[in-house]
Amino acid sequence: MKKINLYFLIMIISLSMLTAGCVSEQTEDVEAAENNMEDAASTSVTQTDTIYQFSVIDALLEGVYDGEITCAELKENGDFGLGTFDGLDGEMLELDGVIYQVKADGNVYKTNDTETSPFAAVTFFETDIQEDINTEMTGQGLASYIEELLPSKNLMYAVKITGNFSYMKTRSVAAQEKPYPRLVDVTKDQSVFEFNDTEGSIVGYWMPEYINGINVPGYHLHFITADRTAGGHILDYTINSGTIEIDSCDSFYLELPENENYLSTGLSADNEGDLEEAEN
Ligand code: ZN
Repeated sequence: MKKINLYFLIMIISLSMLTAGCVSEQTEDVEAAENNMEDAASTSVTQTDTIYQFSVIDALLEGVYDGEITCAELKENGDFGLGTFDGLDGEMLELDGVIYQVKADGNVYKTNDTETSPFAAVTFFETDIQEDINTEMTGQGLASYIEELLPSKNLMYAVKITGNFSYMKTRSVAAQEKPYPRLVDVTKDQSVFEFNDTEGSIVGYWMPEYINGINVPGYHLHFITADRTAGGHILDYTINSGTIEIDSCDSFYLELPENENYLSTGLSADNEGDLEEAEN
């Protein structure tokens, strides 16, 4: 994995601003501009409001399932998120800094820090918008309701919904052997789970259309029950009551795999039909 040393870069920018300040501290305009830039630089240093993503969704669609990033590394970049595991062994969900694995057998496993993932997106969740739900709503109804709450369709959002669900339908996928099949072929044999009157948390993202190829445009949501015994990638649900929390994210950090599976796989330019079929 190649990482640009972001902090080092920011330090250089900050240092050059300090130098600039020394030679021109007489003018108020420069000072004001400098202060604004320092504010901007200090926001960049914090990792909140940044979505950290490993690999791209098009790679997953093409069967790049070799795990590379460890759960420990994911936790360094966020306490909330979703993804999958080495060999496509189940659905990943991170909530409050704990990474869970919902396997195709329907059980939820707590993960070790050394376990790896081929694709994941995490963030340090901070609630920017909060709304309570007190009427029954279908997943589609709630999706439209949440979209009304978003200040702009041009940002990215982490979405957390905690509540009671009269219906929940999820899926998980089984670990794959090489040569890896494409994701649409794996999901034809996915395990589907249905729950009635369950309590739990929805964890996921709403992403803009322009993210196509890199992540899933619109919603991508995973679920885990309050007792952490069941869950998966959400296919459908109905909520009775609960709380929506939205974290507005204005920064996106993409890290690409360097393993042979990723490097040698041709990534198609147009996977929209496949994405629809594999995710919904
Ligand atoms: Zn998923």
